[in-house]
Amino acid sequence: MARYVGARCRLCRREGEKLFLKGDRCHTDKCAMERRAYPPGEHGRDRRIKVTNFGLQLREKQKARRIYGILEKQFRNYFHQAARLPGATGENLLQILETRLDNLVFRLGFASSRPQARQLIRHGHVSVNGRKLDIPSARLRAGDVISVRESSRNIVPIEHAVETRGGRDLPEWLAANTKTYQGQLLSLPTRDTIPVTVQENLIVELYSK
Ligand code: SF4
Repeated sequence: MARYVGARCRLCRREGEKLFLKGDRCHTDKCAMERRAYPPGEHGRDRRIKVTNFGLQLREKQKARRIYGILEKQFRNYFHQAARLPGATGENLLQILETRLDNLVFRLGFASSRPQARQLIRHGHVSVNGRKLDIPSARLRAGDVISVRESSRNIVPIEHAVETRGGRDLPEWLAANTKTYQGQLLSLPTRDTIPVTVQENLIVELYSK
């Protein structure tokens, strides 16, 4: 499956905020947003552009895509799925993104970043309800149990992620047991319990044109 392979720090600089795409490095003073908190490119430092309404909507959509590591086509498909569900489309969209397996492995603290979670899943280190699942985009349901496979628990990136958790709190809709390397999706997240700064209403406006 296609994925973004360019420089990740550029994405944070483009959005003007930390998106935490690189694990531990994001919490140190080596973070590019600590040293060069202006847009990338030759004229990034002196750029003065009046941002239009469309520009705001576009930036919000790009930010969400980049946080969750999703390419345009798949993101648009998620939006259409969200629009077909009952309830607020923006909240549905975030719920779909949050219940992806790679995001849950990251939130449970078994990986330092979503890209790392994605790689661990692809390499077969994760199981769901006792069966190996190597599809990062797989969507989980309330009650599903995620575990790091027994033979993979002493892998350095996993051990390190579990030890540090990167200063992240566990949302109330997840339960994790770092001793057994298991976690559970207790319920579907609601907007107020999803810790991302995205203004989903702008994304809905953008795609509804
Ligand atoms: Fe973003 Fe992390 Fe790079 Fe900082 S180190 S700019 S938070 S990806």
